[in-house]
Amino acid sequence: MQEIGKNHLVLVGAGHSNLHLVKNVSKLQKNGFRITLISPTDFYYNGVAPGVLSNFYPERFGKIDVQCHLDVEDSQYLKFDVKKVNVKDNKIYSHDNQSVHFDYLSINIGGSVPLEKIPGSEEFVFPIRPISKFWEFSAKLKQSIEEGSKKDFTIIIIGGGAAGVEITGNVWDLFNTKGVKSRIVLVTGGDSILTQFPIAAQKKVLNLFSKREIHVKLNSRVIKIQENLIVTESEEELSFDYCILASGVIPNTLDSQNSLLTTKMGELIVTSFLQCKNYSHIFATGDCSYFEDQPLWKSGYHAINQGPILLKNLIASTKGKKLHKYKPSKRIITALNLGDGIGLIIYGRFTLLSRFSLKVKDFIEKRYIKSAKCSE
Ligand SMILES: Cc1cc2nc3c(=O)[nH]c(=O)nc-3n(C[C@H](O)[C@H](O)[C@H](O)COP(=O)(O)OP(=O)(O)OC[C@H]3O[C@@H](n4cnc5c(N)ncnc54)[C@H](O)[C@@H]3O)c2cc1C
Repeated sequence: MQEIGKNHLVLVGAGHSNLHLVKNVSKLQKNGFRITLISPTDFYYNGVAPGVLSNFYPERFGKIDVQCHLDVEDSQYLKFDVKKVNVKDNKIYSHDNQSVHFDYLSINIGGSVPLEKIPGSEEFVFPIRPISKFWEFSAKLKQSIEEGSKKDFTIIIIGGGAAGVEITGNVWDLFNTKGVKSRIVLVTGGDSILTQFPIAAQKKVLNLFSKREIHVKLNSRVIKIQENLIVTESEEELSFDYCILASGVIPNTLDSQNSLLTTKMGELIVTSFLQCKNYSHIFATGDCSYFEDQPLWKSGYHAINQGPILLKNLIASTKGKKLHKYKPSKRIITALNLGDGIGLIIYGRFTLLSRFSLKVKDFIEKRYIKSAKCSE
């Protein structure tokens, strides 16, 4: 099946940077590549997930059909999880030992919420990632509300970062719009929420949540989860109907028999050219990678912006040309959807909580999704 003269580029994971390659399949083909994408799921744009929860966006908004980009000669999309990469024979392996040979490899497999850190989470909570679990949460919650048999819900969100805060705001919006009584509790081990952002941003959101009667429990590290109950470090017990875990992200990993260099957490260490250390034909991007020049915030922002550099570097590699460096912006714009038509924009020290901020976010997200879809 291997074609003479063509470099087989295997893309592992339908993440943001690999999506950029998939969108540019014809350019890659012109430069001598044939392409195989391997991913158990299509591409999902998480940035709009909180808005889907509150019905600001329709169900599954942000799902991009990757197959349509690959409906061209010499390209294929294989739907499975990659388990292992063997750099000695340049092959990747599935769980059932199917193998695919590569000349070039691009790993963009994202991250997950670590369930094993809090005993009981695997059984009793919904993690926000992988996104399939989030959709499950969203569907079950909406179904419970629609059934109407329960009149009063308690929802606990664990994690005070950007994703946890967005989910909290949009869960509140969902109940508020439906006119169903709810107690929404955001629980975090930190002494504030959004701790990576300026204090002004933290205060604005705490103030908004207080007006909405959302309970924010600071300094409350969750140590155990039981059926419908969380237990914090101070032995406080809080009961819930639904609990969602948004407490940080760990990289998804592949078994590489210790040949690819990783951090302790398992992120693949990459150079400024996005190449894995010591393997110039293997690239890694997004949340599963560690950019050795400087630690990057795990975000769709970097995974998206690494895409064009990855494309250029793959093409340059085959031609023996100079590679391009990924130069992360010093300041990145963050836009959060807090539900009920309100957004928060954070850019350096500048913060704006307003309806206009959500319009800006909505514009950015829709433009991205439109650009990622196949043209009709
Ligand atoms: C609710 C929520 C809201 C967010 N909002 C924002 C935001 O507004 N702005 C922002 O910048 N960031 C945001 N983020 C963070 C952002 O979504 C992630 O940082 C981003 O998705 C990482 O992109 P990625 O390309 O590395 O991987 P992903 O987008 O996670 O894609 C990984 C892909 O790899 C596949 N995969 C996984 N394991 C394997 C395997 N073993 N073999 C093959 N394929 C595999 C997956 O199925 C998936 O297709 C948000 C996250 C969440 C959860």
